[in-house]
Amino acid sequence: MKRIGIMTSGGDAPGMNAAIRAVARKAMHEGLEVFGINYGFAGLVAGDIFQMTAQSVNDTIKRGGTMLYSARYPEFAQEEGQLKGIEQLNKFGIEALVVIGGDGSYHGALRLTEHGYNAIGLPGTIDNDIPYTDFTIGFDTSVNTVVEAIDRLQDTAASHERTFVVEVMGRGAGDIALWAGVAGAASDVIIPEHDFDVKKVAEKLRASREAGQKHAVIVLAEGVMHADEFAKELSAYGDFQLRSTVLGHVVRGGSPTARDRVLASEMGAYAVELLLEGKGGLAIGIQNNKLVNHNMLDLFDAKHEAQLDLYDLAHDLSI
Ligand code: ATP
Repeated sequence: MKRIGIMTSGGDAPGMNAAIRAVARKAMHEGLEVFGINYGFAGLVAGDIFQMTAQSVNDTIKRGGTMLYSARYPEFAQEEGQLKGIEQLNKFGIEALVVIGGDGSYHGALRLTEHGYNAIGLPGTIDNDIPYTDFTIGFDTSVNTVVEAIDRLQDTAASHERTFVVEVMGRGAGDIALWAGVAGAASDVIIPEHDFDVKKVAEKLRASREAGQKHAVIVLAEGVMHADEFAKELSAYGDFQLRSTVLGHVVRGGSPTARDRVLASEMGAYAVELLLEGKGGLAIGIQNNKLVNHNMLDLFDAKHEAQLDLYDLAHDLSI
């Protein structure tokens, strides 16, 4: 194997650049030539591919987003799209790839592996919703961004004795809400993986108000419902001086934390090692602080496990 490609695909996440840098530099260190593929599978099919040098990734580790851009390209689910992509791989002499993205991107990577072009997947998503990894690249940065926002909202909530409902990203997984809720001392955390009762949320708020805690921040994962809707339902049970805030895409951007940079660097280098061993169709993860790899097919059958111990802790600590 002489040439490998790298792409980012699906939603962007802080730390993707650190992963690209690690793949590129490790591969070059091992004597490989490295090609950047812009715009995920769309760019692969369009031949938007360029040879990288060690300098291509200078000064990128601290930048959020992805220097290789990202795009959605549903046509890659069809054989026709895949064959067009393979034509480009052949044209550039690329024999194997690293794909940084989420579950959908792993499907594309697996299709290429089945066609004889080994592809390794790195979990790049803020949602932390990929099975067989304790953490995904971008999660730590997004949690820290949410915590900073909660800290600020706690200040203004305290000054006016208000209750803020803060909506954070997380359609199917409540990990961002949970981690940020515990770290930001939220009064309540509402996640898609656990049922909730608005009446009980209201009772708890009322009890803490009576005990002297006049302000509160409730963290709500977007997959549950919109913050406005939640605030409206809550307001039916009392006057809590409610305000809602949607953090939205703010949480996806920004300079990655040291932890995300290190995780991305370790995973990127490990992906190159696996490619050099002639392996493909594998997804990299970190479990119990150790780098691991799993067959992508196993991942598709698995579900990310909700962190219910953290859910209990968030509620135990917010009396
Ligand atoms: P995120 O979790 O941020 O949404 P993702 O990787 O799951 O990331 P998707 O939009 O699901 O994001 O997938 C990214 C790209 O992967 C798609 O636009 C498409 O090009 C490719 N892809 C998705 N599903 C398949 C599939 N079944 N077969 C081949 N390629 C696929």
